[in-house]
Amino acid sequence: MQYEGVLRKMQTEIGSPIQYYMLFESDFLNVNQVLDKNVKVNFIKHQCLNCSNDRPIYRQGFCRTCFFEIPSAGDWIMRPELSKAHLDQEDRDLAYEKKVQLQPHIVYLANSSNVKVGVTRKGQIPTRWIDQGAHEAIEIVEVPNRYLAGITEVALKDHVGDKTNWRTMLTNTVVDENLQEWRDRLKQYIPEEALPYFLDSNTETELEFPVLQYPTKVKSLNLSKTPTFEGKLKGIKGQYLIFEDNTVFNVRGSEGYYVGLTIS
Ligand SMILES: [Zn+2]
Repeated sequence: MQYEGVLRKMQTEIGSPIQYYMLFESDFLNVNQVLDKNVKVNFIKHQCLNCSNDRPIYRQGFCRTCFFEIPSAGDWIMRPELSKAHLDQEDRDLAYEKKVQLQPHIVYLANSSNVKVGVTRKGQIPTRWIDQGAHEAIEIVEVPNRYLAGITEVALKDHVGDKTNWRTMLTNTVVDENLQEWRDRLKQYIPEEALPYFLDSNTETELEFPVLQYPTKVKSLNLSKTPTFEGKLKGIKGQYLIFEDNTVFNVRGSEGYYVGLTIS
């Protein structure tokens, strides 16, 4: 089987286990079907996810020019506390920012390598947790806009991590935590404006990833340095493909790379 196209974040579907899809222009691949098969990745060119030009990818699948210009790559994406649409203030495109920022957002705890706090739009649950490779997660607050979620995250960061250690996540050297207890313990640090939105009755969501064999240590595939790679696929966790020889490939981290895939 042959596929060709620009890499984007894999689409997912909750299930036992989670299902992963790679979408190309006229075709898609259910990656779960390829487990235990040989996958060859061949880097062909760059293709910016915004302008489609063959320019080096800077961040988030965009070339440098697009990254600094388009509304969907503003600073408030990575730092929700910088959101200003609720004040009617524009960053790059107020209409776009209102549409994205002024909708229900969730502050959550997810356990991927350790317990961490994060923010996402409500519609991105549980997708966001799957993308991070969390095996368990719970909502803490549901607020009406991104700003409130952002200041809550900032306040909680002093008391819980906000980063995933991707090596620990991929080798699955994780500890089960009682996230309801974590949530109740952290409640005291939620800013006053967000406290009315505290969710006290949610239970943990458990996520099951399609992994036949976890790597013992990991080496990361970088298509800029190694344009061709071939290996037997042993699992998918977060946005990573895990191969038998301990190579891991971050699909999301390779957005904007146009590749050929050969399955045999
Ligand atoms: Zn571009």
